[in-house]
Amino acid sequence: MSNYLTPNFSFAPMIPERASGSRVWDTEGCELIDLSGGIAVNALGHSHPELIDALNRQAQKVWHISNIYTTQPAQDLARRLVEHSFGDKVFFCNSGAEANEAALKLARKYGRDHFGEHKTEIIACINSFHGRTLFTVSVGGQAKYSQDYAPLPPGISHVAFNDIAALEAAISDKTCAVIIEPVQGESGILPATQEYLEAARRLCDQYNALLIFDEVQTGVGHTGKLFAYEHYGVKPDIMSLAKALGCGFPIGAIVTTDAIAPTFGPGTHGSTFGGNPLACAVANRAFDIINTPETLSHVQTQGEKLQTALQQIGERTGVFKQVRGMGLLLGAVMADQYENRAGEIFNAALKHGLMVLVAGPNVVRFAPSLLLNNEDLQEGMQRLEVAINEWLAA
Ligand SMILES: *Cc1c(COP(=O)(O)O)cnc(C)c1O
Repeated sequence: MSNYLTPNFSFAPMIPERASGSRVWDTEGCELIDLSGGIAVNALGHSHPELIDALNRQAQKVWHISNIYTTQPAQDLARRLVEHSFGDKVFFCNSGAEANEAALKLARKYGRDHFGEHKTEIIACINSFHGRTLFTVSVGGQAKYSQDYAPLPPGISHVAFNDIAALEAAISDKTCAVIIEPVQGESGILPATQEYLEAARRLCDQYNALLIFDEVQTGVGHTGKLFAYEHYGVKPDIMSLAKALGCGFPIGAIVTTDAIAPTFGPGTHGSTFGGNPLACAVANRAFDIINTPETLSHVQTQGEKLQTALQQIGERTGVFKQVRGMGLLLGAVMADQYENRAGEIFNAALKHGLMVLVAGPNVVRFAPSLLLNNEDLQEGMQRLEVAINEWLAA
């Protein structure tokens, strides 16, 4: 097939055509098991009948109306997010990068409005990932994503993740925000420690800086709780969401408090598509399915099964040295002798009808549907082990 797209993505050789639950069929009719979830997006699998129904019903009413108006689906989704989080107010956009862009802009303006012109500095973590806009690649802690786009916005510094002393040394009265992924996703499914998030909260309070949790990947169920910060009992001032929020319909959001929200006064920020009624209608239905004790405990049980299965495969094949993460957001770390070869496991798995992910060069990542059933889990693990053994034998 010819490729009319810019070459910034290197597409896999098969072309998906249709999908249902955790199964995908390509244009050749081959069936795949999907443990990648569209990169932690398809939280209810593919073609969920409730989501199709929500989309169809809203499609009959109104698709788009602009932010000159609010709509019931947008208000309903904001109410759900507020009622089930630390927050009081919501801003909608269309992606994770836009959510972080909004969070960072909000923090800069809040700092300036309340404490003066000097309060503009942002602290982020090395190896963090916050999106691909110029501001978010600059805040993200991976130079490979930002260096080609210099000059970059100033006032951003990076400290080692989970290093309390480094954060203590970097934070000052000039800091307007500290942004952290409660589990670093793209760089290897690395959870923050309890002490680190507690220290970040304490230091932000001490220096009047806002604590931003980027829950674009961890939010809305993947960790076995609605939001990852609940595992820690540490609340942010702003939280960004996207990926699983729309279960595949593009939507992003930030959640913040009544103390901070007024900083985004009329005209200060915006988005043409943000709060789009189709996206919000789908997200409302998805939220109600995910935010139940049944779904969240299913994530916990299936996550434990997946973790155990991956550990066993690691022991039998010697390919993985550790499996880490929370719920159904897991990373299998390559053993030392196979260091930085996670991409080869991705390719081997795909050849055997299994869709996985990588998180950096050294971690094979799994972010399947939160509704993953035993059959798909077990068959997925069988395919993985066959793929790994063939790869080892080659
Ligand atoms: C995926 C991701 C983003 C970027 O989201 P987009 O929708 O691709 O813009 C930001 N932060 C984290 C933690 C992510 O995992």
